[in-house]
Amino acid sequence: MSTIVQKFGGTSVATAERVKAAARRIAATKNAGHDVVAVVSARGNTTDELYELAYEISPCPSERELDVLLASGEQISIALMAMALHALGLPAISFTAAQVGIVTDTSHTKAKILRIDASRMKRELEQGNIVIVAGFQGVTEDMDITTLGRGASDTTALAIAAALGAEMCEINTDVRGVFTADPRIVANARLLDRISYDEMLELASLGAGVLHSRAVELAKKFNVPLRVRSSFEEAPGTLVCEEVEEMEHIVVRGAAMDTTEAKLTLRGVPDKPGVAAQILGTIARKNISVDMIVQNIGREGKTDLSFTVKKSDLDTALKELNRIKEEVGAEAAESDPRIAKISVVGVGMRSHAGVAEKMFAALARENINIQMISTSEIKISCVVGEENAPRALEALHETFELDKQESG
Ligand code: ADP
Ligand code: ASP
Ligand code: MG
Repeated sequence: MSTIVQKFGGTSVATAERVKAAARRIAATKNAGHDVVAVVSARGNTTDELYELAYEISPCPSERELDVLLASGEQISIALMAMALHALGLPAISFTAAQVGIVTDTSHTKAKILRIDASRMKRELEQGNIVIVAGFQGVTEDMDITTLGRGASDTTALAIAAALGAEMCEINTDVRGVFTADPRIVANARLLDRISYDEMLELASLGAGVLHSRAVELAKKFNVPLRVRSSFEEAPGTLVCEEVEEMEHIVVRGAAMDTTEAKLTLRGVPDKPGVAAQILGTIARKNISVDMIVQNIGREGKTDLSFTVKKSDLDTALKELNRIKEEVGAEAAESDPRIAKISVVGVGMRSHAGVAEKMFAALARENINIQMISTSEIKISCVVGEENAPRALEALHETFELDKQESG
């Protein structure tokens, strides 16, 4: 029998009525003859509230204990969902990640799934049960509770879909699918009926919060068809799938904005071989990932080096930068958290020139200064001042006529 994994996000299970509505969708899938695994997130703003609670108790809570706390949100949802299905007369059983063997590494609050022991889930499905699994959480080899990063219930769903060889993974959420830009920011953003794994991966990594980027990575790696659709209306939404040739005809598929990064600059750095490696090596040893990097042309033996890190890593990175400033004999270490990264993405960029120029011209017309630029085969990103970000996103959406294109 074919297995379908259906994930419901926080908004989709926020109230009793919504839990019941989600249960009806799961029931319909089961009654259509499929085995169903449902993955659920914490209800509404529960995860945010749990974070706030932790920081009310302590300015720097232990990450291990934070995970014990955060994972509790999803445990509430699985029990309620199982009860809602029982009320519809269907057999259902709920599981935490530990119970179904979702084993992760030990990086608390951002753990990576190492493996899933699907045997218990398979046994329950064979017995006719609907299996409900808590998203977002895992367990280490030592049985410590971990969480997989904000928004990572999507990743739980895809990891389970891959482990079970599911026919489809369905992400049920509070929007109708994947749009050309965040519909909360760009009013005329257009719903896409299809998008390639690669484009979705870029958009998700560049701030399109509709899907967790690791979920898209898993979907691509294990070739799991992935559908994003509304929990509240019956429509097919967006299919995230293998690239087909006609997708290349569309140069820009979508645009995204990311306000989670901050910029660091080391000024007056001696311009000689090995210094950049020394600076970035120091940051890397603190387990901080660096995203964009810009080094100016040297003048009079000195240069400036700027790079971006996650805002949550800013304090640690700045401390390290101040230390390295003395070591390498640089003049000043500065930080700016008020930045945003704006990006355009499309597989058609591989075969079309002039996208960067069009993007920069659009930002120039809006009098928005570009602080940093980075490109890959299928995306261009610019760092701009945070206050300009929504306007920049709208300008790019307009320039590339994303509201008008037919999707390829
Ligand atoms: P869930 O709780 O269901 O996981 P999320 O809040 O994580 O929901 O993701 C859905 C939200 O993603 C939408 O409400 C929307 O504001 C945002 N979003 C950002 N970029 C996009 C995009 N390109 N298409 C659709 N939604 C987007
Ligand atoms: N509840 C978690 C969060 O709010 C995971 C998720 O919703 O995907 O980040
Ligand atoms: Mg989400």
